[in-house]
Amino acid sequence: MGVMTKAEYIESLRKLHPTAYMFGEKITNVVDNPRLRAGIEATGATYELAELPEYRDMMIAHSPWIDEPVNRFNLPPMSIEDLVYRVKINRALGNYVGTCHQRCTGMDCMCSLAIVGYDVDRKYGTNYYDRVVEFIKYMQKNDFTANASVTDVKGDRSLPPKDQHDKDVYLHVVEKKNEGIVVRGAKAHQTGSLSCHELIVLPTRALRKGEEEFAVAFAIPADTEGVVHVVGRSSLDTRELEGCDCGNPRYSKYAPTVIYNDVFVPWERVFLCGEVEFAAELVMRFSAFHRQSHGGCKSGKIDCMTGAALCMMEYNGTTGVSHLKEKIVDMIHRAETLYGCSLAASYEGKKEPSGIYFIDPVLANASKIHEGREMAEATRLMIDVAGGFVADLPSDKDLENPEIGPLLRKYLKGATDIPSEKRIKMFRLVEKMAMESADTISDIHGGGSPAAHRLTIFRESDLESKKKAAQRLARIEEEA
Ligand SMILES: Cc1cc2nc3c(=O)[nH]c(=O)nc-3n(C[C@H](O)[C@H](O)[C@H](O)COP(=O)(O)OP(=O)(O)OC[C@H]3O[C@@H](n4cnc5c(N)ncnc54)[C@H](O)[C@@H]3O)c2cc1C
Repeated sequence: MGVMTKAEYIESLRKLHPTAYMFGEKITNVVDNPRLRAGIEATGATYELAELPEYRDMMIAHSPWIDEPVNRFNLPPMSIEDLVYRVKINRALGNYVGTCHQRCTGMDCMCSLAIVGYDVDRKYGTNYYDRVVEFIKYMQKNDFTANASVTDVKGDRSLPPKDQHDKDVYLHVVEKKNEGIVVRGAKAHQTGSLSCHELIVLPTRALRKGEEEFAVAFAIPADTEGVVHVVGRSSLDTRELEGCDCGNPRYSKYAPTVIYNDVFVPWERVFLCGEVEFAAELVMRFSAFHRQSHGGCKSGKIDCMTGAALCMMEYNGTTGVSHLKEKIVDMIHRAETLYGCSLAASYEGKKEPSGIYFIDPVLANASKIHEGREMAEATRLMIDVAGGFVADLPSDKDLENPEIGPLLRKYLKGATDIPSEKRIKMFRLVEKMAMESADTISDIHGGGSPAAHRLTIFRESDLESKKKAAQRLARIEEEA
């Protein structure tokens, strides 16, 4: 099949028949549901950019595994250059869609599985790496999209999986058969799960001896029997269903809870099954890759936020105001430091025994901590520059109303030579970028909570070398 066009991607989703619910109703036509379609369009941009001459060289690379050009979202990094492109494609896409494009998570899972599968095989003589490679080749040949089913619903946070009131709160193996395994559980916040062909399941946390049933990783089609997607509510979701006041009418993000109700997984799709000590490594690798991906796409989103703030200055008649120009600089330097940290994680990457390259996890996690704080600051700055109508702009329906529409247009006009429609549209975009919970909350929790980023930095940093540097300066070694 090779690389798909955006139209082919959307048609390929029509062949799937996932079980999906939203607002208490079963969704039979996922692709044409306006709420879900806005998310599918955002993932569709990863195919669309691959078609455009100005992005093609960035988006498409040669796969040595199938000896064909493939979309980089299905290519585990085999060089520092590949690691750098991970960040560049994410920034380009964040900039293009102004929200989450939703395709990085599957890539981050595939990269992690290829590295860890190899390590497990070396210890246990299993054949996970070959299975992972076969799966990735399948993804590459069909140019499919995968999600990351990592976050278990987790129940009582003070208890490990085996001591939970109901152990299904951590996805686990309930049966092993000759042909495969049967799993049960639920994964929360599943970004774009209905925009995907495949779901990739990884453990959500480190596990100990006695917790073998939870140490499971696999991939299955998104419409596998027993898999149920329940689309979560988000702050602006009904706007897409109403077809007005969307702000970003082309693109959006949604994140279902996905229930795995005694789902069968054939052995050839099982990538970890019981090797508890590798759960922590999988989680660490995935989280580091994913936190770095965020540095790319979120710097691209700040580009859009900065553009919106600049337009608002033009439309409000505040272009020459010096404190607003300073705020634009404050937004740009936040985007660039986030991008820089994420790029640095690539340049400091290293080749793993599998031949796949891994980023520097400390820089990747530093980038994510920076994102958690600075996206909020960039949002605050954008709203400051734009003005109060981000909060309570009258609806498009009011503007279309013959009685009040002309009055609203008269009173919503800003700068003399700018039509009020431009100002109204830009206020809506600012509202969407600032207030869409499905997108903005991921600045904080996406890829793990802020405490998890800090923990990884502490664990993965070379603390001893830092102590030695200080001791040398203080001449402690010589005196000891
Ligand atoms: C918009 C969005 C998109 C997402 N997309 C995906 C996705 O595509 N795939 C996916 O798998 N996941 C996804 N996630 C999930 C994300 O990784 C989790 O939200 C994150 O790991 C936090 O988990 P939680 O939501 O269960 O919160 P909790 O784990 O309950 O954390 C809440 C707070 O309590 C603290 N805490 C919890 N337990 C403990 C403990 N035992 N000890 C100390 N502190 C603790 C945490 O540090 C945090 O501060 C997404 C999340 C969001 C918001």
